[in-house]
Amino acid sequence: MPQPIDPLARLPEEWVEALAALGEPPYRAAQIFRWIHHRGVIDPEAMTNLPKALRLALHEAGLAPPLQLEREHRSADGARKLVARLNDGAAIETVLLPVSPSSAVTDADAAAVVDDDDEPKADGAHEATIRVTQCISTQVGCALGCVFCASGAAGLKRHLTAGEISAQVLLGRDLLEPNESLGNVVLMGMGEPLHNYDATARAIRLLTHPAGLGLSPRRITLSTVGLPDGLRRLGEDFGGQIGLAISLHSANNVTRSALMPVNRRHPVGELLEALRHYPAPPGRPITIEIALIRGQNDGLADARQLAKALRGLRVKINLIPMNPIDGSPFGPPASAQIRAFQDVLRDAGYLCFLRRRRGDDVAAACGQLVRRDVPG
Ligand code: SF4
Repeated sequence: MPQPIDPLARLPEEWVEALAALGEPPYRAAQIFRWIHHRGVIDPEAMTNLPKALRLALHEAGLAPPLQLEREHRSADGARKLVARLNDGAAIETVLLPVSPSSAVTDADAAAVVDDDDEPKADGAHEATIRVTQCISTQVGCALGCVFCASGAAGLKRHLTAGEISAQVLLGRDLLEPNESLGNVVLMGMGEPLHNYDATARAIRLLTHPAGLGLSPRRITLSTVGLPDGLRRLGEDFGGQIGLAISLHSANNVTRSALMPVNRRHPVGELLEALRHYPAPPGRPITIEIALIRGQNDGLADARQLAKALRGLRVKINLIPMNPIDGSPFGPPASAQIRAFQDVLRDAGYLCFLRRRRGDDVAAACGQLVRRDVPG
């Protein structure tokens, strides 16, 4: 028996159906969807163009804000980590990463995996606008236990609903400064999006719906360890539209399995085979993420093996020196080692960027979401 759809996650056509059961005309569906996903108003009481009886019915159907901002931490480098409390008391985090026009030029990979849309506009009216990339979560914790990740260390508490995933973007938009605009959304916070596929896919549909936020799918990137079945579904549902980033970290099965237990179930060869079939958007190569960890995956032999494994795939490679995590024995390699690793990949013909770590001081960088200040 299919579960009823959470009102917050209904698409307009599903609202038409739900409202018909209440004897309401179809045009109310567009009004309600617009209140929620365009204006960011989720409390039915504030939907002032709806009749009182309908507002009451929506309230009784459970339409209510799914999360509240609890804290905002500002990093010295401009990153802002938002801690949000869900209605069951669990906490999640989402991060706003401003990318100034100048940094978009000088640091091609400044804020996130999406960088080709971050070029400043030629139009003078937009020159002062700071584009913000928002990183959102898809689960409370994560089941996959990558050894370098704080979210994984906490284990999986539960999946987020589609409404909880998309509401993070509405929250983030409300907190933008007047000179900022939402540029890109990256599903790269707490959790593995493909492990919560149905809710993640529905959230993408909500975020990209033209009657709601209307985000271009090109501005969305999903970051994953690369669960092959999830990659296949993503390709079928959003083929050629959603950007993809793969947390590969090593092309060596022994090394990758030691860092990422999921590799024992889905080894590198299976992942790369799935990538060969993924319909990446035109002009947007798949991003391969390598968190460089001193003494683990940072050798030149590792770089050469990586170059060989990726041959024939349309990719760009991001090198991310490991972020320090409290209580973890791992750390970043020396700068010279990172440069040497990058040189091997560039000499092999790959686009290969060194990503700045951002938000370290508020534990907002990759692999740092949760632990330092989120109890429970
Ligand atoms: S890196 Fe991603 S998949 Fe791995 S434990 Fe962390 S959140 Fe989960």
